[in-house]
Amino acid sequence: MLVTTKEMLQDAQANHYAVGAFNVENLEFVMAVIAAAEERRSPVIMQTTPGTVKYASLDYFAAMAAAAAKDATVPVAIHLDHGDGFDRCMQAMRAGYTSVMIDGSHVPFADNMALTASVARVGAAMGVPVEAELGKVGGKEDDGPAVEGENPYTDPDEAVQFVETTGCTSLAIGVGTAHGVYKGTPHIEQGVLKAIRSRVSIPLVLHGTSGVPDDQVAEAIANGICKVNYATELRQAFTKGYMGFMAENPDCFDPKKPAKPGMAEISKVVASHMDNLGSSNRA
Ligand SMILES: [Zn+2]
Repeated sequence: MLVTTKEMLQDAQANHYAVGAFNVENLEFVMAVIAAAEERRSPVIMQTTPGTVKYASLDYFAAMAAAAAKDATVPVAIHLDHGDGFDRCMQAMRAGYTSVMIDGSHVPFADNMALTASVARVGAAMGVPVEAELGKVGGKEDDGPAVEGENPYTDPDEAVQFVETTGCTSLAIGVGTAHGVYKGTPHIEQGVLKAIRSRVSIPLVLHGTSGVPDDQVAEAIANGICKVNYATELRQAFTKGYMGFMAENPDCFDPKKPAKPGMAEISKVVASHMDNLGSSNRA
Protein backbone atom coordinates (compact mmCIF):
# COMPACT_ATOMS: atom_id res chain seq x y z
CA MET A 1 0.00 0.00 0.00
CA LEU A 2 1.08 3.56 -0.71
CA VAL A 3 1.25 5.54 2.53
CA THR A 4 2.72 8.81 3.77
CA THR A 5 6.01 8.89 5.67
CA LYS A 6 4.22 10.21 8.76
CA GLU A 7 3.11 6.92 10.28
CA MET A 8 6.30 5.18 9.13
CA LEU A 9 8.59 7.63 10.87
CA GLN A 10 6.43 7.82 13.99
CA ASP A 11 6.69 4.05 14.36
CA ALA A 12 10.43 4.13 13.69
CA GLN A 13 10.93 6.86 16.28
CA ALA A 14 8.83 5.06 18.90
CA ASN A 15 10.63 1.77 18.35
CA HIS A 16 14.20 3.04 17.85
CA TYR A 17 14.88 1.97 14.30
CA ALA A 18 15.14 3.91 11.02
CA VAL A 19 13.35 3.62 7.68
CA GLY A 20 15.62 3.60 4.64
CA ALA A 21 14.90 6.16 1.93
CA PHE A 22 16.36 4.90 -1.32
CA ASN A 23 16.80 7.11 -4.36
CA VAL A 24 15.27 5.56 -7.46
CA GLU A 25 16.46 6.61 -10.92
CA ASN A 26 14.29 4.53 -13.23
CA LEU A 27 11.87 1.60 -13.37
CA GLU A 28 14.60 -0.91 -12.59
CA PHE A 29 15.50 0.87 -9.33
CA VAL A 30 11.83 0.90 -8.29
CA MET A 31 11.50 -2.85 -8.93
CA ALA A 32 14.78 -3.66 -7.17
CA VAL A 33 13.93 -1.59 -4.08
CA ILE A 34 10.43 -3.05 -3.68
CA ALA A 35 11.82 -6.57 -4.12
CA ALA A 36 14.25 -6.02 -1.24
CA ALA A 37 11.52 -4.48 0.95
CA GLU A 38 9.23 -7.46 0.37
CA GLU A 39 12.03 -9.90 1.01
CA ARG A 40 13.00 -8.18 4.27
CA ARG A 41 9.39 -7.39 5.34
CA SER A 42 10.42 -3.75 5.70
CA PRO A 43 8.62 -0.44 5.26
CA VAL A 44 10.34 1.53 2.51
CA ILE A 45 10.61 5.07 1.18
CA MET A 46 11.42 5.58 -2.50
CA GLN A 47 12.61 9.06 -3.30
CA THR A 48 13.63 11.15 -6.28
CA THR A 49 15.72 14.30 -6.55
CA PRO A 50 14.79 17.21 -8.85
CA GLY A 51 17.49 15.96 -11.26
CA THR A 52 15.76 12.60 -11.49
CA VAL A 53 12.29 14.04 -12.04
CA LYS A 54 13.72 16.28 -14.74
CA TYR A 55 15.13 13.13 -16.41
CA ALA A 56 11.66 11.55 -16.45
CA SER A 57 8.84 13.36 -14.58
CA LEU A 58 7.05 13.48 -11.25
CA ASP A 59 4.12 11.70 -12.91
CA TYR A 60 6.28 8.80 -14.08
CA PHE A 61 7.79 8.23 -10.64
CA ALA A 62 4.49 8.69 -8.79
CA ALA A 63 2.92 6.12 -11.12
CA MET A 64 5.80 3.65 -10.81
CA ALA A 65 5.75 3.88 -7.00
CA ALA A 66 1.98 3.43 -6.99
CA ALA A 67 2.34 0.38 -9.22
CA ALA A 68 4.98 -1.06 -6.91
CA ALA A 69 2.84 -0.33 -3.85
CA LYS A 70 -0.39 -1.70 -5.34
CA ASP A 71 0.34 -5.34 -4.72
CA ALA A 72 3.04 -4.88 -2.11
CA THR A 73 2.53 -6.35 1.34
CA VAL A 74 4.79 -3.72 2.94
CA PRO A 75 4.16 0.04 3.38
CA VAL A 76 5.64 2.14 0.55
CA ALA A 77 6.03 5.93 0.39
CA ILE A 78 7.14 8.11 -2.52
CA HIS A 79 9.08 11.18 -1.40
CA LEU A 80 10.49 14.23 -3.18
CA ASP A 81 14.13 14.46 -2.08
CA HIS A 82 15.71 17.95 -1.91
CA GLY A 83 12.68 19.79 -3.30
CA ASP A 84 14.17 22.88 -4.92
CA GLY A 85 11.37 25.36 -4.34
CA PHE A 86 7.73 25.89 -3.46
CA ASP A 87 6.51 25.09 -6.97
CA ARG A 88 8.27 21.71 -7.26
CA CYS A 89 6.85 20.65 -3.89
CA MET A 90 3.33 21.60 -4.98
CA GLN A 91 3.79 19.74 -8.27
CA ALA A 92 4.95 16.63 -6.38
CA MET A 93 1.90 16.72 -4.09
CA ARG A 94 -0.37 17.08 -7.10
CA ALA A 95 1.37 14.19 -8.88
CA GLY A 96 0.61 11.94 -5.92
CA TYR A 97 3.83 12.03 -3.89
CA THR A 98 3.04 11.04 -0.32
CA SER A 99 5.92 13.03 1.21
CA VAL A 100 8.09 15.99 0.18
CA MET A 101 11.28 17.69 1.26
CA ILE A 102 11.78 21.40 0.85
CA ASP A 103 15.51 22.15 0.92
CA GLY A 104 16.15 25.73 1.96
CA SER A 105 19.54 24.96 3.46
CA HIS A 106 21.33 27.00 0.79
CA VAL A 107 19.59 30.28 1.72
CA PRO A 108 19.94 32.32 4.94
CA PHE A 109 18.23 31.03 8.09
CA ALA A 110 15.26 33.44 7.97
CA ASP A 111 14.63 32.74 4.29
CA ASN A 112 14.86 28.98 4.89
CA MET A 113 12.26 29.34 7.64
CA ALA A 114 9.89 31.35 5.44
CA LEU A 115 10.22 28.96 2.50
CA THR A 116 9.79 25.87 4.69
CA ALA A 117 6.76 27.35 6.47
CA SER A 118 5.04 28.04 3.15
CA VAL A 119 5.42 24.42 2.03
CA ALA A 120 4.62 22.98 5.48
CA ARG A 121 1.37 24.93 5.60
CA VAL A 122 0.15 23.39 2.35
CA GLY A 123 1.47 19.99 3.39
CA ALA A 124 -0.55 20.16 6.61
CA ALA A 125 -3.67 21.05 4.65
CA MET A 126 -3.06 18.26 2.12
CA GLY A 127 -1.96 15.59 4.60
CA VAL A 128 1.52 15.39 3.07
CA PRO A 129 4.48 15.33 5.49
CA VAL A 130 7.19 17.95 4.85
CA GLU A 131 10.87 17.35 5.57
CA ALA A 132 13.14 20.40 5.82
CA GLU A 133 16.91 20.84 6.11
CA LEU A 134 18.89 22.95 8.54
CA GLY A 135 22.67 23.01 8.51
CA LYS A 136 24.65 21.61 5.62
CA VAL A 137 25.08 18.19 4.14
CA GLY A 138 28.24 18.35 2.03
CA GLY A 139 28.48 17.49 -1.66
CA LYS A 140 25.92 17.77 -4.40
CA GLU A 141 22.56 16.03 -4.24
CA ASP A 142 22.47 15.01 -7.85
CA ASP A 143 26.07 14.44 -8.79
CA GLY A 144 29.71 15.11 -8.04
CA PRO A 145 32.12 14.23 -5.24
CA ALA A 146 31.70 14.88 -1.55
CA VAL A 147 33.31 18.10 -0.40
CA GLU A 148 34.11 19.58 2.99
CA GLY A 149 31.54 22.13 4.04
CA GLU A 150 32.28 25.26 6.07
CA ASN A 151 30.79 24.56 9.54
CA PRO A 152 28.24 22.05 8.30
CA TYR A 153 26.74 21.30 11.73
CA THR A 154 23.19 22.16 12.63
CA ASP A 155 22.93 24.51 15.63
CA PRO A 156 20.58 22.98 18.28
CA ASP A 157 19.15 26.39 19.28
CA GLU A 158 18.38 27.20 15.66
CA ALA A 159 16.82 23.77 15.22
CA VAL A 160 14.34 24.41 18.05
CA GLN A 161 13.34 27.80 16.63
CA PHE A 162 13.19 26.41 13.09
CA VAL A 163 10.87 23.52 13.91
CA GLU A 164 8.55 25.61 16.09
CA THR A 165 8.30 28.39 13.52
CA THR A 166 7.96 26.39 10.29
CA GLY A 167 5.76 23.43 11.25
CA CYS A 168 7.93 21.01 9.24
CA THR A 169 7.25 17.39 10.19
CA SER A 170 10.80 16.02 9.98
CA LEU A 171 14.24 17.60 9.87
CA ALA A 172 17.42 16.76 7.96
CA ILE A 173 20.43 17.85 9.97
CA GLY A 174 24.08 18.48 9.30
CA VAL A 175 26.17 16.12 11.44
CA GLY A 176 29.19 15.65 9.17
CA THR A 177 27.87 13.51 6.32
CA ALA A 178 28.09 14.43 2.62
CA HIS A 179 26.43 13.44 -0.63
CA GLY A 180 28.30 11.54 -3.31
CA VAL A 181 31.49 9.54 -2.89
CA TYR A 182 33.61 10.12 0.23
CA LYS A 183 37.30 10.82 -0.16
CA GLY A 184 38.25 9.78 3.38
CA THR A 185 36.37 7.88 6.10
CA PRO A 186 33.24 9.83 7.02
CA HIS A 187 32.58 10.77 10.62
CA ILE A 188 29.17 11.49 12.17
CA GLU A 189 29.30 13.99 15.04
CA GLN A 190 27.13 12.00 17.45
CA GLY A 191 27.33 14.76 20.09
CA VAL A 192 25.70 17.30 17.78
CA LEU A 193 23.00 14.77 16.95
CA LYS A 194 22.32 14.05 20.63
CA ALA A 195 22.11 17.76 21.44
CA ILE A 196 19.51 18.27 18.71
CA ARG A 197 17.57 15.12 19.60
CA SER A 198 17.28 16.20 23.23
CA ARG A 199 15.51 19.41 22.20
CA VAL A 200 13.62 18.63 18.98
CA SER A 201 10.83 16.05 19.05
CA ILE A 202 10.08 15.50 15.32
CA PRO A 203 11.84 12.73 13.34
CA LEU A 204 15.45 13.51 12.37
CA VAL A 205 16.87 12.56 8.97
CA LEU A 206 20.37 11.54 7.92
CA HIS A 207 21.45 12.44 4.38
CA GLY A 208 24.60 11.45 2.49
CA THR A 209 24.78 8.01 4.10
CA SER A 210 26.25 6.04 1.18
CA GLY A 211 29.73 4.99 2.28
CA VAL A 212 29.19 5.70 6.00
CA PRO A 213 30.20 2.61 8.03
CA ASP A 214 27.21 0.63 9.33
CA ASP A 215 28.29 0.94 12.97
CA GLN A 216 28.25 4.75 12.77
CA VAL A 217 24.78 4.66 11.19
CA ALA A 218 23.53 2.26 13.90
CA GLU A 219 24.90 4.60 16.58
CA ALA A 220 23.16 7.56 14.92
CA ILE A 221 19.89 5.62 15.00
CA ALA A 222 20.41 4.88 18.69
CA ASN A 223 20.92 8.62 19.09
CA GLY A 224 17.64 9.49 17.40
CA ILE A 225 17.87 9.34 13.60
CA CYS A 226 14.78 7.66 12.09
CA LYS A 227 15.10 8.19 8.31
CA VAL A 228 18.33 7.35 6.50
CA ASN A 229 18.95 8.24 2.84
CA TYR A 230 20.93 6.16 0.36
CA ALA A 231 21.51 7.17 -3.27
CA THR A 232 25.11 6.76 -4.45
CA GLU A 233 25.45 3.12 -3.36
CA LEU A 234 22.40 2.12 -5.42
CA ARG A 235 23.77 3.84 -8.51
CA GLN A 236 27.09 2.07 -8.04
CA ALA A 237 25.37 -1.28 -7.51
CA PHE A 238 23.23 -1.03 -10.64
CA THR A 239 26.14 0.06 -12.79
CA LYS A 240 28.31 -2.76 -11.44
CA GLY A 241 25.71 -5.43 -12.25
CA TYR A 242 24.82 -3.95 -15.61
CA MET A 243 28.38 -3.34 -16.81
CA GLY A 244 29.55 -6.71 -15.49
CA PHE A 245 27.00 -8.46 -17.66
CA MET A 246 27.86 -6.37 -20.71
CA ALA A 247 31.58 -7.05 -20.27
CA GLU A 248 30.85 -10.78 -20.43
CA ASN A 249 28.22 -10.47 -23.16
CA PRO A 250 29.40 -7.63 -25.41
CA ASP A 251 27.07 -8.64 -28.23
CA CYS A 252 23.90 -8.41 -26.09
CA PHE A 253 21.46 -5.79 -27.32
CA ASP A 254 18.47 -6.60 -25.10
CA PRO A 255 18.54 -4.05 -22.24
CA LYS A 256 16.47 -6.34 -20.02
CA LYS A 257 19.33 -8.80 -19.77
CA PRO A 258 22.02 -6.59 -18.18
CA ALA A 259 19.31 -4.85 -16.12
CA LYS A 260 18.57 -8.05 -14.22
CA PRO A 261 21.99 -8.38 -12.56
CA GLY A 262 21.89 -4.59 -12.04
CA MET A 263 18.65 -4.93 -10.12
CA ALA A 264 19.99 -7.90 -8.16
CA GLU A 265 22.96 -5.79 -7.00
CA ILE A 266 20.64 -2.97 -5.88
CA SER A 267 18.40 -5.39 -3.97
CA LYS A 268 21.42 -6.81 -2.16
CA VAL A 269 22.57 -3.35 -1.01
CA VAL A 270 19.07 -2.28 0.03
CA ALA A 271 18.35 -5.49 1.97
CA SER A 272 21.64 -5.22 3.82
CA HIS A 273 20.85 -1.64 4.86
CA MET A 274 17.34 -2.60 6.00
CA ASP A 275 18.91 -5.10 8.38
CA ASN A 276 21.34 -2.51 9.73
CA LEU A 277 18.65 0.17 10.08
CA GLY A 278 16.47 -2.24 12.04
CA SER A 279 13.52 -1.87 9.66
CA SER A 280 13.51 -5.54 8.59
CA ASN A 281 10.42 -7.40 9.88
CA ARG A 282 8.75 -4.11 10.86
CA ALA A 283 6.20 -4.08 8.02
ZN1 LIG B 1 20.34 14.60 0.67
